[in-house]
Amino acid sequence: MSLDRVISGETAAGQRPCWSCQAPLSVRAAFCHACGRIQPPAALDHFRRLNLAPRFDLPTADLEQQYFGLQRSLHPDRFAGKSSREKALSLQHATALNEAYDVLRQPLRRGEYLLELRGRPLNGADGGTIDDEELLTQAMAMRERLADAAGEAEVLALIASAEADAAAILAEIEGAFAQEDLASAARLLTRLRYLAKLTAEARARVAGAGSGVQA
Ligand SMILES: [Zn+2]
Repeated sequence: MSLDRVISGETAAGQRPCWSCQAPLSVRAAFCHACGRIQPPAALDHFRRLNLAPRFDLPTADLEQQYFGLQRSLHPDRFAGKSSREKALSLQHATALNEAYDVLRQPLRRGEYLLELRGRPLNGADGGTIDDEELLTQAMAMRERLADAAGEAEVLALIASAEADAAAILAEIEGAFAQEDLASAARLLTRLRYLAKLTAEARARVAGAGSGVQA
């Protein structure tokens, strides 16, 4: 479903009849209270899908408790003996839950998604151009260090330093979102995205090492 529809709340309010017994249900109801049959998933953002408030500093325990709880009651395995429609609906629920969990459990994707929900997508009107001097300087310096790294130990040290930087940036992002400072959150998330990219490149280099890393 499209994020626009979710944000406008167009389909998230009101009632709809149960597809099987026609009992009036909240559009959010996953099951019919009258006949017990599974209903189509509602158009909800990833946070609401998991009954969570939209926030960046999301406790992992809360996220996992909601996800695994919902996944248990809506999992296709539970509908093996049911009609093909019910099987299809449970699969739709499971897919939507997986997508929500996948986005929300990763800080970078969670932050990007939160900015989208607030109407300030990272790759929006700016076209993704970078006018952050500090980031450009840092990124270039790290890229040079990676290119110059003489062996695996140096690459691993670079990864460790990038991970420490990322942890510090994460704490800053939490503060920015807590203060609704979306401009800072966007700038910091762009930095985090670059660090993640660089770390992935460095890891790939270590993984493909042996002859790849020259002494
Ligand atoms: Zn029903």
